[in-house]
Amino acid sequence: KRRRQFLVHELKELFESKLGAKHVDYGQSTASIVKNCCKELPSDNDESFYIVNLSHYARQYHQWMHFLGRIHPFYAVKSNPSSFIIEVLAELGGGFDCASAEELALVQKICGDKFDYAKRIIFAHPCKSISHIRQFRDAGVQMTVVDNEDELTKLKEHWPDAKVLLRLKTDDRHSMSPFSTKFGANERECITLLRLARKLNINLVGCSFHVGSRCLDPNLYKESLKLARRIFDIAQQDEFKFDFKILDIGGGFSGHNWDKPSFPEVAKVINQTLDKIFPESEGITLMSEPGRYFSSGGMTLVTRIIARRIHNLDYKSNEKIVELNRKMSYVQSSSENENEKSDSEKALIESADNIYYINDGIYGTFNAIIFDHKVFIVHYIKINDDNESCEQFKSVVFGPTCDSIDCIAHSINLPLLNIGDVLWFPDVGSYTSACASNFNGFQTKKYVFIWKN
Ligand code: PLP
Repeated sequence: KRRRQFLVHELKELFESKLGAKHVDYGQSTASIVKNCCKELPSDNDESFYIVNLSHYARQYHQWMHFLGRIHPFYAVKSNPSSFIIEVLAELGGGFDCASAEELALVQKICGDKFDYAKRIIFAHPCKSISHIRQFRDAGVQMTVVDNEDELTKLKEHWPDAKVLLRLKTDDRHSMSPFSTKFGANERECITLLRLARKLNINLVGCSFHVGSRCLDPNLYKESLKLARRIFDIAQQDEFKFDFKILDIGGGFSGHNWDKPSFPEVAKVINQTLDKIFPESEGITLMSEPGRYFSSGGMTLVTRIIARRIHNLDYKSNEKIVELNRKMSYVQSSSENENEKSDSEKALIESADNIYYINDGIYGTFNAIIFDHKVFIVHYIKINDDNESCEQFKSVVFGPTCDSIDCIAHSINLPLLNIGDVLWFPDVGSYTSACASNFNGFQTKKYVFIWKN
């Protein structure tokens, strides 16, 4: 524990000098941090930016080690490949799940000679291109995963000494982003793979699984662990004679402790199951690939209203709009009728009181509305107006590009805001900037670093 505290102190100093990370008291609210950051920027600044709390990554790491100390986390770089997250986690002893040669190169570059990075990386993609296989092999990485026969043949030819995990198909119906239609071998397919691996003399060393991203049912981990146990036992049989020693329980953990079940609750189910069916005495190495668990909470997006359009409709007395709002709640829950949905969205936009244009949108951070089913929480700060009127108006928020699909909110309540006022969004760290494009020349590129403790 003392070593960890020392490390955290060192990290704080490192990032203070390297990235100018400002020290912020733990008790300070995000709203006041956003206000201060806006004040400190030049008054004519209207660029969007992220506030990054670097201590968040260290805190998540320590929480992980506290609740799941048997399991070594390999951060899923895909969830947010920012160098500062990789650096904090590398310093603390974390490993990395890389899914492509570019992610590998990133970790190599950041870790440099300081860490023995090759041992800290798993190439965790079950369907790999040959050029990427070669790059991982040449970098000295040792471990990867497979879920199909062709992949075993590819490995035999291009990476014969790899340590290989069988990626299992899980029941991930209750996760927000399930993967099992795309990846994973079921029990029967695993037996075929064990047979072929024995024939090709592939070094199978264990199993991996992923219960789907944002898994809100800890029983999915329990059931997947039981499946892994069965495959471990089958692999030992005389026909296959594999001595499995590694189990990788993937990602899926929420980044917020207010989610139900919370991380400690999920960890409890995992620990209880592990103690029963993979007891410590068996000497199995346990690892995992958490992405959003680390990256979600560390970043806040701060945007500016760059333009607006005031419709001046008396919303509350407009029967047509009331009817449309009623209809929208139905339409939103029915994905089948897309025409009706887009008609209603269009009508809502046309009839809103106020329309705002901000400097990040669907092609940027808010792509997570589409790709990650994310619900963004919006806060506002009035910079250019002392009028603290609480009157709320039906408002539409558009992103900055020329495309009309670039709409962040079709109908939310906001007070009357001015150009230059701030809309900010907490917890935007995972699967946001990682998937953002520079379409139309708009992208949030500025970062302000803090260290909150
Ligand atoms: N591991 C693999 C193989 C993945 O595909 C993903 C997400 O796509 C992750 C880990 C990270 O998942 P999460 O962010 O839910 O922890």
